[in-house]
Amino acid sequence: MKLSHRITHITGGGSDGWDVFYKARRMIAEGKPVVELTIGEHDIGTSPAILNAMHDAAIGGHTGYAMVPGTLALRETVAARIQARTGVVTTPDNILITPGGQAALYAAHTAVCDPGDTAVYIDPYYATYPGTVRSVGAIAKAIVTSPDTQFQPTAAALLEATKGATSLLVNSPNNPTGAVYSADTLQAISDACIANDLWLISDEVYDTQVWEGTHISPRSLPGMAERTLVVGSMSKSHAMTGSRVGWVCGPQDAIEQLLNLATHTTYGVAGFVQDGAEFALNQGDAIEEGVAAPFRRRRDLTMQALAGQNIVRAVPAQGAMYVMLDIRATGMDGESFANALLDEELIAVMPGESFGQAAAGHLRVAMTIDDARYIDALERLIAFAHRKAA
Ligand code: PLP
Repeated sequence: MKLSHRITHITGGGSDGWDVFYKARRMIAEGKPVVELTIGEHDIGTSPAILNAMHDAAIGGHTGYAMVPGTLALRETVAARIQARTGVVTTPDNILITPGGQAALYAAHTAVCDPGDTAVYIDPYYATYPGTVRSVGAIAKAIVTSPDTQFQPTAAALLEATKGATSLLVNSPNNPTGAVYSADTLQAISDACIANDLWLISDEVYDTQVWEGTHISPRSLPGMAERTLVVGSMSKSHAMTGSRVGWVCGPQDAIEQLLNLATHTTYGVAGFVQDGAEFALNQGDAIEEGVAAPFRRRRDLTMQALAGQNIVRAVPAQGAMYVMLDIRATGMDGESFANALLDEELIAVMPGESFGQAAAGHLRVAMTIDDARYIDALERLIAFAHRKAA
């Protein structure tokens, strides 16, 4: 039977760029000791305190259908957190709880794009972005950035590429580049959205992982609250990737309409999981600082390991749990390098090409194993690059 064009074209018909990742998984299943630095999965689990809160909520009976837009208590907590951090008045009516940030990305694009509309995003991009756009029937259009501008989009490119488009998706702190968008970049994003009458979808799932610069939510810029949907998540900030709790924060009428989408798709998020998330957010900053600390430390260790040579260079990692390494001096592209590194050194990293054309000749390294093994893998990667460059 014929399947829909929409479902069969989510990946754009070609490779989804995750070949190295799947190959590493196969090798691990065969018992090979592969060092896994591919995906954004913490090397710690969810804190026992959060799990206990979930357990208590479940045993206490919060196992039936939960409120579809999210429990009022969690929506209030998320709204208060956003208001405190951004200064923008935010109430539970501005919040829809979703099963993770990915569902929020899908919901946000569904809310603003009709089939055939153009949805713009920035290259390099988080791997699901083009597929998310295609899965709502919109046309995916990338703004290709450059390593020369540290992968931040320029004002001219933003203004030009968004003409006639419906939405612009941005992500700061950025996966895969680690860039934290500057105030100037965010102003240019806001200017382009206002000039060309676009919705902004701002993916802020790494907002608690900032090593340099300041995270500014573009929703807080003048004239932006009414045209911005913020995507948030507990996954990265609280090491709750498997719990699937995220949110869309936006204008009340958009959130009201998104409730209809949730009713007809996910039917909400498990109540006891939401209670665990609410507990976590009410613990103050300690949990999220504890979750972020290893990445800050490993980012510094990365800079130390790379010092004194110039075959492998780091793109300045200002935030998030990854570093982007420029290996163009080896003469290899990211995909060949990552494949060879996996075959010869049993180290799995993501080729930059998995995240778009702007990151060709780069590698994304997830800093997600303990410090000693991480540094050992990095030193072997550097030595490997030097051998290939010779
Ligand atoms: N956005 C970005 C930039 C990400 O890197 C991820 C996950 O890696 C997500 C969204 C989705 O996260 P989740 O669905 O776990 O909240």
